[in-house]
Amino acid sequence: MIHLNTYGWNDKLNQLKQESAYKALSHGRVTVVHRTCYEVISESGLHQCELTGNMMFGKSDFELPCMGDWVIFQPFDENKGIIVDMLPRERILYRKKSGTIADKQAIASYVDKAFIVQSLDDNFNIRRAERFMVQILEEKIKPILVLNKADLDFDKQKIEEHVKHIAHQMPVFFTSIHQPQTILQLREFIAKGETVVFVGSSGVGKSSLVNALCEKSVLLTSDISVSTGKGRHTSTRREMVLMDASGVLIDTPGVREFGLAIDDPDSLAKMLEISDFTESCRFKDCEHINEPGCAVLEAVNCGILDPKVYESYLKLRKEAWHFSTSEHEKRKRDKSFSKLVDEVKKRKANL
Ligand code: GDP
Ligand code: ZN
Repeated sequence: MIHLNTYGWNDKLNQLKQESAYKALSHGRVTVVHRTCYEVISESGLHQCELTGNMMFGKSDFELPCMGDWVIFQPFDENKGIIVDMLPRERILYRKKSGTIADKQAIASYVDKAFIVQSLDDNFNIRRAERFMVQILEEKIKPILVLNKADLDFDKQKIEEHVKHIAHQMPVFFTSIHQPQTILQLREFIAKGETVVFVGSSGVGKSSLVNALCEKSVLLTSDISVSTGKGRHTSTRREMVLMDASGVLIDTPGVREFGLAIDDPDSLAKMLEISDFTESCRFKDCEHINEPGCAVLEAVNCGILDPKVYESYLKLRKEAWHFSTSEHEKRKRDKSFSKLVDEVKKRKANL
């Protein structure tokens, strides 16, 4: 039997299940989504599941189950099933769907921590890290900056200078798959039953880190095991893996960059740690662009606030504004459309 608590199942989820009309059926967590097929891990093992029509009806893409969701399903045959219900979602990592104005896409749910992985070569880019960070914080997920390939030549002092302004929001780890100690430190940071998502460009070492975190024996006897290649992961690629029966690691190969899907642009000042300034502006509704008495501009002018951080703030805010107003309008449109449908239905009923 598989113990689902290692996958994050707990009393609270169990209670939520009791509120479902389908509480007598099996439950499990979505580990992979292939179009309309969902792989679900349950106490009795993996099941290939599909959704009932009801689960799909009237739903936007982002409301359909994604990796990490907890679902209730009716098993059949040996390892198949039909998903009939989904427990209320929490801590979902979204991104704006590319090529759209206001559609969002759920990448994973029930996420506790997100490792923003960058490598300490040309890939390191603090502006991109900020972008990931604000999206992650928006969902009350804990962001962690993992700077990998620390075995390469890099200027640590310079890097620390770059990350200083967001260090309160996001712990920073320097790692290398060739330095087992750094992997151990990262592993200790993941608690039992926690779900960790890895985001970042391809090539920065996300899969290598996931593999290294999963191989305790390799770490303890690093040189021998690594050099013989024993215990290395096979080539079948799982996106969600269990780390030594303790944490759940989710690798997201496609997530190079996030388009922001943020509803509350005002939260950005806090996330980027400039709210101390914004609160001192003369006008309550100051937009920090050219208003008199703007404490943010003052801070930039006298060198307390890095102009690059200020620029980044304006850019992200503009994007978030764009997303939230477009989404707002879209909702309004959807609402008036369903009103129209209701009216047509009523009219039909009266005929
Ligand atoms: P992903 O695309 O982010 O999953 O990156 P991979 O895990 O596939 O790694 C990309 C390349 O970087 C591979 O050749 C790895 O061997 C290499 N790599 C990963 N981690 C490290 C590291 O800590 N140091 C060095 N020097 N190379 C690494
Ligand atoms: Zn201002």
